[in-house]
Parts: sequence; structure tokens; C-alpha cells
Amino acid sequence: MSTHFLLSAKARSISLREVFCMGEEKAWDLFKQMRWPENNGRPICPRCGCTEAYDIATRRKHKCKACHHQFSVTSGTILASRKMSFTDLLAAIVILVNGAKGISALQLCRDLDCQHKTAFVLAHKLREALAAESKNRTLHGIVEVDGCYVGGHIRPANMAKDRVDRRLAKYQTGKRRVVIVMRERNGKTLTAVTKYENEGIEIIKQRVSSCAIVHADEASHWDELHGYFEVKRINHQQAYSHLGACTNWAESFFSRLRLMVGGQHHHVSPQHLHQYAAHAAWMEDHRRDDNGKLARNVVSSVMAHPVSRIWKGYWQRNI
Ligand SMILES: [Zn+2]
Repeated sequence: MSTHFLLSAKARSISLREVFCMGEEKAWDLFKQMRWPENNGRPICPRCGCTEAYDIATRRKHKCKACHHQFSVTSGTILASRKMSFTDLLAAIVILVNGAKGISALQLCRDLDCQHKTAFVLAHKLREALAAESKNRTLHGIVEVDGCYVGGHIRPANMAKDRVDRRLAKYQTGKRRVVIVMRERNGKTLTAVTKYENEGIEIIKQRVSSCAIVHADEASHWDELHGYFEVKRINHQQAYSHLGACTNWAESFFSRLRLMVGGQHHHVSPQHLHQYAAHAAWMEDHRRDDNGKLARNVVSSVMAHPVSRIWKGYWQRNI
């Protein structure tokens, strides 16, 4: 029997031991390599583009030789104004990519011995940077689409006589959302969050190539897709897969997302759900990469991602 990929030695190419043994200098070097690969890890002034800078090693900063602007490796990126050490940041990234079903802010704050608020914002900044990878992506070939309701749980009353029909709109909390997934068979994954599943139609029209063959389940709102794509339908009450029609790739994404939300995060607010969904999609798309490659990928995405409008100063605005 072949070994599951995640159990094989190939899947492990970086460890927390290595991260903490490498020390601050080497961790800083790694961030520089990923920020300025075109200059071999040497700083490039973000203000004037000059490729020569003095090092202010004591403060881990640089000063541009041309315009004297002082900057650090994280200036202008989503990690700007960081207080955490580079080793801790790298450790956070390794912990994040090691969690095949994501990682909760509570667990991350315990592992890193930092405040919960710090871990919460850091994890979300990392997720935002990861999601940028698929921002302009269009899907081709065979694309499976489906929707999954998340959140808005209504606790049933203790006494049976007090219980309500939780399916009725008047008892809904307004927090329930649908994660729409579009997934190429053997390929990439895109997600979106909407209030109702039929709102997914517009998104699918925008993100899926008109030449693609779309597979969807029997839900009647998907009927509209027939006007735009070649569509194959599968009735799940009869079979999960029939004559090549199935949405099993979409379902396997939802399986990861449900485990992530149910087992790690427990409660996700509707306004952040799209970040958890994008994280789960990223994990699916990179499930065969070893953890060293995943960690480098995250560092590189983070270094290429601008300051976040949502997460910069989040706790100053949301106390
Ligand atoms: Zn400059």
C-alpha cells in the first residue's frame, strides 16, 4: 500500500525546531530573499527603486543610498509595523501551513505565547495574502460548482414544546452564509461567500471560462447555468457520480471547510468567512506540496502583499 502523502518524509521539509535554531538573522534573511528575489535578497528602496542601500543592522533596517529613505523588509507589505520577531513570524507561518484543517487564533496564541488579538490579526493577514494568489484566476476545463451553508446556528430550546422549526426564515439569525465553490477537476479552486446559493450564478459567470464544462447538482437554481455553459447535472438522491457527472471535487473542498470551521474555529463571523474559505481552497490546491515549500510560498505571498485595509490597526478600530 502506498503511503499517504502527508505521512511520507517528503511532506516534511521544515520544522519548528529548525525555525527556532536558525535564529533571528537567518529568518530575517529568508524574508529579504522573498521580498527582493530580483536583487538576490539585497534591499530595493520602496520609494525610489534604488538597488543600493546601507544596512542599519542594529535595527534591522536599511537606508537608501539615493534618497536616504529608511525602510525595513516589511515596509509597505501586509506585515508593516510588525512587532513580532522574524523567527516568531516564520514559526507562525509554519504552524499555519502544518494545520491541514487550518489553525485557530487561540491555538496560535498559545503556541507563540502572544496575545489572542495578535494571533487573530496575524492569521488573518496571512490568509489575506494567500487569497491574493487566486485573485485574477479564471477556471477552465471541467469545473464543479456547489454551495454550502455555514454559520447561523440556532440552539434548540430545552423543552421540546418550546422548540421552533429552525428552517423557517423568521427564526434565522441572519448570520448564515453560503460558501460557493468553483473547482477545476484536478486543478484550482475558487471560492465566494453569498447570502443565497443562487447568487453564485453571477460569480460563476465571471470566474469560469465560457468554454468550460460545468458540473452541478440537482438544485433548481443551477438551471440558469445551462444558458451560459455546457452543464452536466448529478442528482445526489440517485447517485454521487453517474456517467462522469459529479461534484465530488467540490464536496471534498466542503469536507475540509466543515472540519476547519467546526473543529478549529468553532464560530466564524459572516464578514470573515470568505477568508477561511479562501484558506481552505489554498490548502486544497497545495495539498501535495511539502511544508517547507508551503512556508516559503506564504512568506513570498506576504512579502508581495500590500498593507491590509481590513487588518491594519484592526483592534484600534474594533475594541
Ligand atoms: Zn530611495
